[in-house]
Amino acid sequence: MTVKKIEFPEDLSASSEYLRMAVPLMIQRQIPPTPHNYALWYVHVQNQHPELSEALLEQFPGPGLYDHEKSEWLFFEFFIRNYLPNSPDIQNLLVNIVAQLAQAVSKNVKGTQKYGETLKEAMDVFDMAVDSDRIRDALTQLLADTTTVENLNQEFQVELQSARIEVEHLRKELEESQRSARIDSLTRIANRRAFDDALDQSLSMTDEPTCLLLLDLDHFKQCNDTYGHQMGDRILEIVGGILAGFQTETVFVARYGGEEFAVIVNDRAAVARALAETLRQKVSALRLKRKNSTEVIGSVTVSIGLAQAREGETAQKLVERADVALYRAKHNGRNCVITWGESA
Ligand code: GH3
Ligand code: MG
Ligand code: MG
Repeated sequence: MTVKKIEFPEDLSASSEYLRMAVPLMIQRQIPPTPHNYALWYVHVQNQHPELSEALLEQFPGPGLYDHEKSEWLFFEFFIRNYLPNSPDIQNLLVNIVAQLAQAVSKNVKGTQKYGETLKEAMDVFDMAVDSDRIRDALTQLLADTTTVENLNQEFQVELQSARIEVEHLRKELEESQRSARIDSLTRIANRRAFDDALDQSLSMTDEPTCLLLLDLDHFKQCNDTYGHQMGDRILEIVGGILAGFQTETVFVARYGGEEFAVIVNDRAAVARALAETLRQKVSALRLKRKNSTEVIGSVTVSIGLAQAREGETAQKLVERADVALYRAKHNGRNCVITWGESA
């Protein structure tokens, strides 16, 4: 099934019109006014989702065929599946929204049903054509109930509006959680997942060259052992900051994992090579100092492997070749840049 985004752009009058259209269809088919059901029938009368309408009418063509599980399944397929967020906060918010809608809808439908009953009674009275006092009483009652329904409708709109605000909040949180799932929390640059996507995208754009740099900090284990893990983390943060400073439209920087970084350069190998050399020098120029001290305790260096993608090459093969070049850079004595195919 193709799942497309369901939009609710209506203003209050349009959405109450949908309510008026949806509720009779549900009553006709004896469908309980739960939030699941209301959402499904609302979108059906909105007439913007043919797949949903088709599935809904196929499952519930007429009265007496209601099945709670089928309805939940449809709700899951069309509303939840594609948006199911991972964060517990967002899940709680969703639950609140649904609960709020449940209350609003059941109030509204109860009101509408009572209104319907009163109308019917009034009709009976007119049919019997009894005395004018009874007709006047019935009309008065009808008027009072109309006001009640109107008030309920207004309350319903307020509840909908507040659900709408929560949905907007939810959308923002979702965006934020999706964004942060692609950023490395220590260095604040792209993480491995974002890198993998960026590399695939770069390789798919065949009109520009793709060069890949793999950077690995030298003797980092020893650095941790000598200065402590915290200092190690601080160095990773600083190196991430240096790389971030070179991010442009054609340069994408990421933490590849551990003490390794990756840079995608959409340019000729010579340009990528010059960037690699600049990065190597910037890192080796760092001077490590303890917190609140000016005393220099050491320096840090990086080895870099470079490979330019061949025509039709996969991401995996390109990474493998850059890794071979990196390995050669390590064997060449570290703190240097080696291009794939170049003898160390
Ligand atoms: P080489 O020059 O051959 O790359 O030596 P190396 O010590 O850097 O390589 P090795 O793979 O033996 O060790 C990598 C070290 O990086 C080990 C690990 O403790 C450290 N490391 C990986 N991730 C982190 C991190 O997030 N924080 C800190 N502080 N250290 C890390
Ligand atoms: Mg390593
Ligand atoms: Mg290393």
